[in-house]
Amino acid sequence: MDAIEAQGELESFIDQALHRGICIQERVEERRGGGEDGNNVTDEVAVRIRGVSHQFGEQGGTRYVRALLDTSLDIRRGELLCLIGPSGCGKSTLLNIMGGLMEPAAGTVEVGNQRVRGPMPQEIAFVFQENALFPWSTVIENVKLGMMFQGVRKAKRESRAKLSLEAVGLMDFADYYPSQLSGGMRQRAALARALSLETGILLMDEPFGALDEQTRMVLGEDLSVLLSRTDKTIVFVTHSLGEAVFLADRVAVFSARPGTIKEIIEVDEPHPRKPDFITSEKFTRIRNRLYSLLHDEIRKAVSQSAVSERVAADESSREAKP
Ligand code: ADP
Ligand code: MG
Repeated sequence: MDAIEAQGELESFIDQALHRGICIQERVEERRGGGEDGNNVTDEVAVRIRGVSHQFGEQGGTRYVRALLDTSLDIRRGELLCLIGPSGCGKSTLLNIMGGLMEPAAGTVEVGNQRVRGPMPQEIAFVFQENALFPWSTVIENVKLGMMFQGVRKAKRESRAKLSLEAVGLMDFADYYPSQLSGGMRQRAALARALSLETGILLMDEPFGALDEQTRMVLGEDLSVLLSRTDKTIVFVTHSLGEAVFLADRVAVFSARPGTIKEIIEVDEPHPRKPDFITSEKFTRIRNRLYSLLHDEIRKAVSQSAVSERVAADESSREAKP
């Protein structure tokens, strides 16, 4: 069976299942009250993180890494929260734990009032740095596939795919294959796929990380416009201070590994943010504050990795000796 046949079979299987009455999406829409209600950040907690710690490997083993330490945070419904911190401080680990892709060694995450125990495709969508589009499917097929896996009925997929492609400015490229698009357009396609799922929460792990500065800037501006039209809760990991200030309602600054939140900075500026926000005194002030908070942590992270490289080198030279 080739890929297209397999896709067809899977699609018809899912449709049959849905027609038997498993219409999860509609139930979710009913629960949410079915409509958009503006872009205001609310006081309602969308994601509640309590005492989350995580480590990889066995204690005492050479691969033992304490990635996250006792992290607690409330993420408000409708806000865009940026996570920023030294490389390797546990940002992706926390995002994966939030999304139910990984179970924390300690602590809990709640979405709504539900404890996260695994992926919640009706509530949470992801955009990663590597967009993971299927190369053999066109842009619009990729968007529809995402909805199919989530269980959206076939009749709704086309219109929702078009709406989300329009939202990211890709409608003219709906029938292109990923290889025919630039890196920035592929990330737009990945974003359209995530938006089409209509989840309340979007988790984005350095989604523009592999793109050049100018493309990031334009995508950032477009994301800010999109944000002003939805009440989505977005958690956005970035290593760019400017991107964090431009996009975020709040920026959570991580300490060096084992990561925990060192400080949270508010960016009190309405969406959509205008390009001239970047040259404003306010922008520079917040960016400088982030820089000074991060600077020490980055130094710590660099000296940590120098130490662990030395330990690893010592170990391998010991192993190499007869
Ligand atoms: P960040 O996203 O902040 O750069 P990560 O959350 O990816 O950091 O990783 C935190 C630490 O945990 C890093 O030292 C990384 O090498 C380690 N780590 C991440 N994933 C794994 C894994 N699957 N196995 C072992 N170590 C890991
Ligand atoms: Mg990461």
